[in-house]
Amino acid sequence: MMLRRIAHVLFCWIVLSSIFPAQASGLRGKCESKPLLAGFVEFVKTGRMPADLRKFLGDAQAQRIAPYKAFDNAYYVGVCWVSAWLITSPQGHVLIDALYGNFTRQLLANVRSLGFDSKDIRLVVVTHGHFDHAGGLALLKKELAPGTRFAMTKEAWEEAAANAASERRPFPMIEPDVVLADGQEITGGGVTIQAFETPGHTMGTASYAFDVRDGAKTYRAFTVGGLGLNAIKGPAQVEAFIASVKRIRKLTEEGPRPIRLHLTTHGFSTGLPEASALLKQRKPGDPHPLVDLRGFRRQLDQLQAGAEERLQIERQKH
Ligand SMILES: [Zn+2]
Repeated sequence: MMLRRIAHVLFCWIVLSSIFPAQASGLRGKCESKPLLAGFVEFVKTGRMPADLRKFLGDAQAQRIAPYKAFDNAYYVGVCWVSAWLITSPQGHVLIDALYGNFTRQLLANVRSLGFDSKDIRLVVVTHGHFDHAGGLALLKKELAPGTRFAMTKEAWEEAAANAASERRPFPMIEPDVVLADGQEITGGGVTIQAFETPGHTMGTASYAFDVRDGAKTYRAFTVGGLGLNAIKGPAQVEAFIASVKRIRKLTEEGPRPIRLHLTTHGFSTGLPEASALLKQRKPGDPHPLVDLRGFRRQLDQLQAGAEERLQIERQKH
């Protein structure tokens, strides 16, 4: 059932439920993090999706949010519950994640409304093979310029093909194109992205690091490819998840270009709708509301703690 598949985006409910107690989700037809999270928590706890969450996820109008400039070269072009990021350069752009169905059409409209030509997208990198990130690839391949490349890990290509062929929620899929390896840098137009294999959410999940500019400042940004523990098939996968989270934590602490901020795949996971609203009110000299290293580390610590609890449960089950 489609709604069960939507659950794959959830964070470990153990973590979430400690932050957002179970309650009616309280969605009011607006893109707000807290009720959206609360609705998902309720769904996972009870196995029944709150009616207002069901309505909200399927409501094209409610999902539509105005695309916006997050950094001088990074734009949000996704819908409310799933992100897509456009990283731009004068030589061409990179898109992170494809969305799905009519939301992919919304993504393309968002790119255009920001004043960009979708034909200038040179590369699409995908975080993993679930429908909400890979489901729109066939449409993108049709709509984007003929030479556009599509990239993900070998396992993610396999996941996407399997999910595309599933009975529960099939979607059109493209043939595998670029296969990314851990640590590989790939350039589309003038944008270079570094891929990290971060298995856990799925075993093919990749995360991406890239530079974003804010005036004279450049920050290393990171998109964590998958945070939920809802597609877990046993303790080894949870162990992989924990190792990936620890590795990402380390990338915020050391290396030639440590990570400074998280541009998430699901905005409600980091309060992105609320933080991005602050961009409009920002005055010269104000700190950038999305540069929140402490918040990113806190999120990683919470994910690790939740996964360690889940590991005990998985070890008892298997
Ligand atoms: Zn997923």
